[in-house]
Amino acid sequence: MGIFYTFTCDCCGYTADVQGGRDAGENVEMQTMICRRCRKVVDVPIHWFGSNEPVRPQCSKCEGTDLAAWPPRHPCPRCKGRMIKGEMATIWD
Ligand SMILES: [Zn+2]
Ligand SMILES: [Zn+2]
Repeated sequence: MGIFYTFTCDCCGYTADVQGGRDAGENVEMQTMICRRCRKVVDVPIHWFGSNEPVRPQCSKCEGTDLAAWPPRHPCPRCKGRMIKGEMATIWD
């Protein structure tokens, strides 16, 4: 089960509703990543259970593939400030 949190940047106010790490739902494993193309924080499917096909991480916003795992210190993709974990936003599963 995955839970989204609202992360907000202290410096520029950018917000993202993401897991903030790696988590698995019923059918899929998700990893929070930074898209270097559209400079957003997105949750990306990295593994579908029951499938041996390698998943090519792709941004759900711009369909770009230049993605990097979001480091644990949660840097803002816009201004390099730090994003603070806020309220629970949604539960996906
Ligand atoms: Zn920022
Ligand atoms: Zn993107």
